[in-house]
Amino acid sequence: MHMKRLIFASNNAHKLEEVRRILAPMEVLSLREIGFESEIEENGKTLSENSNIKAQTIAKWLRDNIQENYFYVFADDTGLEIEALDGAPGVITARWAGEPACDANNRKKALSELAGKTNRRARFCTVVTLIHGNKTQQVEGEVHGTIITEERGNSGFGYDAIFMPEGYDKTFGELPAEIKNCISHRAKAMAKLAEILKQEDI
Ligand code: IMP
Repeated sequence: MHMKRLIFASNNAHKLEEVRRILAPMEVLSLREIGFESEIEENGKTLSENSNIKAQTIAKWLRDNIQENYFYVFADDTGLEIEALDGAPGVITARWAGEPACDANNRKKALSELAGKTNRRARFCTVVTLIHGNKTQQVEGEVHGTIITEERGNSGFGYDAIFMPEGYDKTFGELPAEIKNCISHRAKAMAKLAEILKQEDI
């Protein structure tokens, strides 16, 4: 009997922590734990393409380096879409304020681009790609909310301190992780992923 290994194709410690909490008690391996230390170039034109690039890169690496085929690998690509900015930053969410990617500068850029605007609606969208054998599946999750006018809260990461989800009066940076991990874009995509994995009996 083979071990079914579940690998998250990300180098982002914050994402890894959220994903582990959401998918518990399933065991999730990080890229460091499987010995993959490189950066993955995300040159796709959409979240879906970038999510796929990440998962395919790791699946190929596992086949080539570990001669192992019996794994499940999944990747997450996330974008913030701001209505008043015609959906920007979208696919460039991580590098919006320039390279190297900097969360604090990205938040500042969002606040300055929206200065004086009344429509502050935005959504986060996560596309998750799962690869097992020769099968590739994608699922998505989204959360709607608003970009507030100043940073609030310091839990979470990325744009959390300026994003207030619909139905709440606190930002993702202020809400406890248990709440973010129930209502977020990533939580919704992971719930769909968990359904698939359950059927696979992982
Ligand atoms: P990527 O999916 O790793 O390419 O990340 C896209 C960008 O979105 C990065 O700037 C992240 O910091 C940000 N991001 C991803 N997930 C979240 C989240 O849950 N909250 C806030 N920002 C996020």
